[in-house]
Amino acid sequence: MNGLHFYFAVISAALILDGCAGSRPAGIQSQGNLQHFDKSIVTVAQWGGTRDTLQHPVQTITHITLHHGGVDFTKDEDPRAYLRNLQSWSRSEKKWMDIPYHYLIDLDGTIYEGRDIRYAGDTNTEYDPTGHALICVLGNYENISPTKEQLRSIVNLFTWLCWKYHLSPEVIKGHKDYSKITVCPGKNLYAYLADGYFRREVEKELAQMKK
Ligand SMILES: [Zn+2]
Repeated sequence: MNGLHFYFAVISAALILDGCAGSRPAGIQSQGNLQHFDKSIVTVAQWGGTRDTLQHPVQTITHITLHHGGVDFTKDEDPRAYLRNLQSWSRSEKKWMDIPYHYLIDLDGTIYEGRDIRYAGDTNTEYDPTGHALICVLGNYENISPTKEQLRSIVNLFTWLCWKYHLSPEVIKGHKDYSKITVCPGKNLYAYLADGYFRREVEKELAQMKK
């Protein structure tokens, strides 16, 4: 377990839900929906975070890499509070510009914006995340399994990123494919990478767009 994952084991997010969890993508289905997919993503301002305003080197996206939060996350917890805590911890403790991930997905499949994707993410492990679009699914997938809604959102987000950055689904991998010191994104989520499910679903979605 790395420091980031461990830290959240001690945060209590018993905060009040403030409603308006953002719209949940059902399936992309058309080119038009793909072009407007980002409208379904909860923005940093909507979850109460702030953008880093400094200039940083801009990355070219060449990989898509899946992570998990690595600690239990329950329906009683407010994902927005979790994101605000993660953002302030990333800046104050780690001295990172922002949350290490570009997109985060909660238990009901809602997608949230994290770090500006123009900038490389951060990691506590030994790989260089430059060029990787980093996606984090909240929860510990060594212990729990992803829901249908989460799987749908992950596929949709992967599809949109492949379309937007002209990537082959072959570049979709998990954190542990690049690091020997983590089980991230957890065996129950990694299973969908290992058996090719995510890549097949994204290929299906992309093929649908060409019809
Ligand atoms: Zn990870």
